[in-house]
Amino acid sequence: MKKILLFIILLGLVGVAKAELRIAGTLTQGGLLHGQATPGTQIYYEQRRLKVSEQGEFILGFGRDAETSHTLTLIDPSGLVSFKELQIESRKYRTQRINGISKRMMEPSSEDLTRIGREAEQARRARRLDSDLPYFTDSFVWPVIGRISGVYGSRRILNGEPRRPHFGIDIAAPTGTPVKAPAGGRVTLAHKGMFFSGATLIIDHGHGLSSSFLHLRQILVKEGQLVTQGQRIATVGATGRVTGPHLDWRINWFEQRLDPALLVPDMPGG
Ligand SMILES: [Zn+2]
Repeated sequence: MKKILLFIILLGLVGVAKAELRIAGTLTQGGLLHGQATPGTQIYYEQRRLKVSEQGEFILGFGRDAETSHTLTLIDPSGLVSFKELQIESRKYRTQRINGISKRMMEPSSEDLTRIGREAEQARRARRLDSDLPYFTDSFVWPVIGRISGVYGSRRILNGEPRRPHFGIDIAAPTGTPVKAPAGGRVTLAHKGMFFSGATLIIDHGHGLSSSFLHLRQILVKEGQLVTQGQRIATVGATGRVTGPHLDWRINWFEQRLDPALLVPDMPGG
């Protein structure tokens, strides 16, 4: 009898240990990890304490050039400290050449540079939020269906000059095409016209995950508004530094740029 009881207790302990941390997502540069820990666990990654939902869910994003080895520090509700080593895959990025960009966009004046700095700070502020919103666990959908004309991470050569890599995914679509929310969230920035990105919208999905939509013609929502997945939030345009109408959709985990294509199914017809 005692032996059986001991066996059941041990089984219980093994069960708890196994359930402690479950990991899903794409473990690669530009990828997003979805984790599930015992509720009440504290999780630290580099200098950051990750927000863990009441159900124990958390996320962690890896930037374009993220290191391939990472360590999570977990403190379970009883105070037990453990470490989880993560290996992610590195990626190779393409090179994209774009010509026909205006001189003003290539060599902004000092006045334009001041404006660019101010606008970048507005976007950074919106992406720095670590809200409790639950939409970071949503299965994302494409905001626009169309031909993919630019991919995440590519090195960019503009008018023959090497520039910063591309961090979004470009979807070519006619001006006025509706842009739908890829997941629920709250509008944290609705800017009518930024120097590079034109009319720009940022939506917070919670836990540091945000979507940005660039080069819009029209923004249909207001800052502070909650949106649901599939809701029309804007229309495609050609504002800012562009050579034609398209949607540039970006995903951030705080300041880390992620690959939106890893969060959605394959593009229909693509
Ligand atoms: Zn783009």
